[in-house]
Amino acid sequence: MASVGQITRQISALEISSKQNTTRTTTTATTTTTQHKKNASQTNVTKLLSKYAAPNPFPTSSSLQKAASSQSIASKTQQEASRPPSPTRPAPVKQHTIDIGKYDGGFEIENETRGAKITGQAAEDLALDSSVAAYLPTREWHLTDFDIGRPLGKGKFGRVYMVRTKTEPHYILALKCLYKSEIVQSRVEKQIRREIEIQQNLRHPHVLRLYGYFHDEKRIFLMLEFAGKGELYRQLTKYGSFTEKRSSRYIDQMADALGYLHAKHVIHRDIKPENLLLGINGELKIADFGWSVHAPGSRRKTLCGTLDYLPPEMVEGREHSEKVDHWALGVLTYEFICGAPPFEDLSGYNATYKRIARVDLKIPAKVSPEARDVITRLLQYDPEKRIPLSEVRKHPWIVKYRSKGHSTAGIS
Ligand code: ATP
Ligand code: MG
Repeated sequence: MASVGQITRQISALEISSKQNTTRTTTTATTTTTQHKKNASQTNVTKLLSKYAAPNPFPTSSSLQKAASSQSIASKTQQEASRPPSPTRPAPVKQHTIDIGKYDGGFEIENETRGAKITGQAAEDLALDSSVAAYLPTREWHLTDFDIGRPLGKGKFGRVYMVRTKTEPHYILALKCLYKSEIVQSRVEKQIRREIEIQQNLRHPHVLRLYGYFHDEKRIFLMLEFAGKGELYRQLTKYGSFTEKRSSRYIDQMADALGYLHAKHVIHRDIKPENLLLGINGELKIADFGWSVHAPGSRRKTLCGTLDYLPPEMVEGREHSEKVDHWALGVLTYEFICGAPPFEDLSGYNATYKRIARVDLKIPAKVSPEARDVITRLLQYDPEKRIPLSEVRKHPWIVKYRSKGHSTAGIS
């Protein structure tokens, strides 16, 4: 049975092999930008590149050949493994020794009875394969490339399992299955495509990484970063609420990740505890990009998101911007500390809508003046008056609890 420490080292090893290949990614990225300059959506994807950009750990052989260095990621990782460990560079563990748990055969059992073959435009829309992605294609993947372990959860469109790649260096991942016919029935083909396109191009320590994806006749599989401590929502339910220290640290990580997303013109629009996962060290990871929108310069009117986290401009059907995520961050801060969202009204949707539109905010006396200040500055009716994310990260309530050594990257 692998210890938490082993998994931590394994994840760190993944980060190391990513960092080492920054030059290669930059080279490939430049090439791709030039090649796909005229395609609008491709340009959008290219904009998602950032200082956080890490290379794909599963590149195609052709993209490796293009690499500035002639070494492959795999050979570098092997070299890494043969080096002695140092305090700053943990030794990658032999990852096939990590226990991924017992597989219950769920993928195959379910595939007998669930889903149907799809045809036509929908089949084309959902033929999603990262090995032929226009931007940073990966190698080709199939279900048979993985050892499957324990079930992690059930999503709307299929199950999620802990898996390990059969080939070296045996990465541990979460493999999420989506049934195409159910996506079509829910009419979310475009949304799912968007979620995948957006998430695959994001690289940030607090944004759940999507490493690749592939499909078969009935299903799409997403190769996701494994979030070792599961759902944040489960923690919130378990404890009722969080201490201000814990809340402050989560909000710091959220503001960091949202700042990154907004700089890439990505608005999440569905920030809530259910969409946040926890890494093996308890660090927060934003997941579920289903509602997010990639909108350089545009303002959307679509009503989406969860009721309790909707800002006044969306409740009132007005145009909205990335400031919707600032509002949601205020709601999240309140819910972490108080255990329930601020405008919840059990008498019904309309009552909640009214409370949101009036910003009918009542903060319990137990909340510290500093936390109160953060909440009220984020929960402003006028989106432009909401405190910038960089200011959130510099706020005394955040700074006071930030642990020493925590990255302050992004804070100017
Ligand atoms: P829902 O509508 O219920 O949120 P969904 O289709 O969005 O479903 P997910 O939330 O992504 O599906 O996955 C279902 C569950 O699987 C999660 O609640 C979580 O417990 C687990 N899970 C998903 N992704 C991961 C991951 N990367 N690491 C660990 N566990 C995960
Ligand atoms: Mg979910």
